Amino acid sequence: MTRFIDVQAMSTLIQAIGVTPFIAQLADTITEDFLRWPDFEKCARVANHSPTGVIELMPVANAQRYAFKYVNGHPGNSVKGLPTVMAFGALAEVATGYPVLLSELTLATAFRTCATSLMAARVLARPNSRTMALIGNGAQSEFQALAFHTLLGIKEISVFDVDFSATDKLLRNLTAYPALKVRRAQSTADAVRGADIVTTVTADKTLATIVTPDMIEPGMHINAVGGDCPGKTELHAEVLRGARVFVEYEPQTRIEGDIQQLPSSFPVIELWRVLAGTVRGRQTAAQVTVFDSVGFALEDYSTLRYVHQQALRRGIGRDVELIPGGHDPKDLFRFTRTDGGHAAQRHAA
Ligand code: NAD
Repeated sequence: MTRFIDVQAMSTLIQAIGVTPFIAQLADTITEDFLRWPDFEKCARVANHSPTGVIELMPVANAQRYAFKYVNGHPGNSVKGLPTVMAFGALAEVATGYPVLLSELTLATAFRTCATSLMAARVLARPNSRTMALIGNGAQSEFQALAFHTLLGIKEISVFDVDFSATDKLLRNLTAYPALKVRRAQSTADAVRGADIVTTVTADKTLATIVTPDMIEPGMHINAVGGDCPGKTELHAEVLRGARVFVEYEPQTRIEGDIQQLPSSFPVIELWRVLAGTVRGRQTAAQVTVFDSVGFALEDYSTLRYVHQQALRRGIGRDVELIPGGHDPKDLFRFTRTDGGHAAQRHAA
């Protein structure tokens, strides 16, 4: 049987584990898999573009498990009452192809994205970072704020969104975390001034330059999350040129990341090499570092692996008959008869 995790079950799982432990354990799981990078068969995700957005498929596998995520990006969705990003995915056994997990991944993607941002900031940001600017206060923003506050030591954040009601919502949700000082900024430049870390998590289907060179201060770490699609960026090209730039999977980020604005000869470093200790991350305290995040399939593989393990351990979710079972796998036709397949399964059980 296949374990099925819908939104309600994912919410139950998160509440059972706790938001901060969930982010922390997920960051550890993603790090573990990034350290096994060469073991995975990887490819850039497959994207279908339309005038309003993109729908993408993200597969990855190692010798044991195969995973894929379906995800979209439609920045205009919120006026239709839908999230900008919606996702689901599956985890399967490579030995048989049997899907062991089918899961919602909209909520889980917010966790895996902030966990990945945290994993990168741990090796790229200055260790004494205490302040962060958070530009874009939509669905992902609380998760980013909490990952950096509870697990990286950020004490103060300055927040800005062109949609004031999104910032209202973020401020409301963060009142549950009184140790985090939150300041409402008047503009991106106002938010970024004096920040140790700058997180951009905006959604707009345009070549935006939300962070410009005049805003950059020595030693900043930029966690650029929202520029993740051809024709959709957040950083001015000169910000990238003046920084040491890190990516998840280079072939995908060249197409989708903020570095799409630069020639393919522009040097970037895959994050797993820094985690593995073969390449240095930040070289000096004054250096500007950029994590040009786009979201890579391996992060979803890790998430599905973690969710599957935790759901089984805690008895959360339910088993569904996604694949025809029973005593004779060659007799698929029995499922065309009234109760034929189910009678056969009961017989086999
Ligand atoms: P969302 O629509 O809920 O929120 C985005 C917010 O950005 C909105 O409130 C919007 O008003 C704001 N915004 C747009 N333009 C802005 C600007 N110029 N300045 C300030 N704010 C601006 O979307 P979300 O789910 O929070 O996702 C945010 C972005 O992150 C999307 O672009 C999404 O594709 C991307 N994303 C990336 C990853 C990754 O792994 N890198 C994962 C998930 C989402």
